[in-house]
Amino acid sequence: MLIDLHTHSSVSDGTETPAEVMVQAARAGLDVVALTDHDTVLGWDEAADAAVEVGIGLVRGLEISCSLAGRSVHLLGYLISPDDDDLMQELAEARESRLTRIDRMVELLAEDGIPITIDQVRAEVADPGTTVGRPHLADALVTAGLVRDRAEAFSRYLHTESPYYVQHYSPDPLRAVELVVAAGGVAVLAHPYSRRQHEAVTPDLIADLAAVGLAGIEVDHRDHTVSDRAALRGVATELGLLVTGSSDYHGDGKPNRLGEYVTEPAVFEAIVARASGSAYLPA
Ligand code: AMP
Ligand code: FE
Ligand code: FE
Ligand code: ZN
Repeated sequence: MLIDLHTHSSVSDGTETPAEVMVQAARAGLDVVALTDHDTVLGWDEAADAAVEVGIGLVRGLEISCSLAGRSVHLLGYLISPDDDDLMQELAEARESRLTRIDRMVELLAEDGIPITIDQVRAEVADPGTTVGRPHLADALVTAGLVRDRAEAFSRYLHTESPYYVQHYSPDPLRAVELVVAAGGVAVLAHPYSRRQHEAVTPDLIADLAAVGLAGIEVDHRDHTVSDRAALRGVATELGLLVTGSSDYHGDGKPNRLGEYVTEPAVFEAIVARASGSAYLPA
């Protein structure tokens, strides 16, 4: 039983459509996959149709970009209700703010002689409802021949310490956990000790999140070292949290391969049992 609870499609910064992600997940031998696009549930319906077709179980999810004292923290939400107004409004506000933010980043780049336009970024975005992020700006820089790949775009121009970096509106992680729980979903902290999050996420913060309903921690993830994983397992045991593992697949946008880390079946069952927002779609 292979269960991968974190993947992205082209409705956010993955490079494959939701249907293609399901096809690739089945091809990779997964039994269950979660589609967890950034700040949107736009891919759910297409993924559900494709999951039925290829015979794979689908967990409908999302990954909410949060911020705490200017640092980014990612929260996975599984099996939320897509009819929950409070959560959907929060996500819409974040997506809207992402558009203004990308405009500003393009302006800053152009002012400094890096010739990129907002139309070139728009050309990299699949769907009008897509959550637009720095990876789309990276793709525009690649298409324009200014960098080799997304990784180079991030290391040269788009990283958080770069003069071209601009933040977007995003909720505090405590509020995001509360919104996921109120929407009947199950909240799992994504890759808490990845380089981009480690300064924001402390055991104390995880304890505060657990107090408002956090269900688990994504421990087995390529961004975590062996010692990160051991430390996070300790935090999870202490707080009574579930431990998950997943790939954080982005198609060709990142080297992460489907199923490179997986979640124990018993943990997956506990997540499904805890959810009341949307049903798990079995194979
Ligand atoms: P944003 O949410 O728009 O600030 O962009 C953050 C997203 O960029 C993350 O979800 C990652 O998937 C992606 N990302 C960050 N660093 C890199 C990198 N070095 N290469 C490719 N994608 C990256
Ligand atoms: Fe991403
Ligand atoms: Fe993430
Ligand atoms: Zn992710």
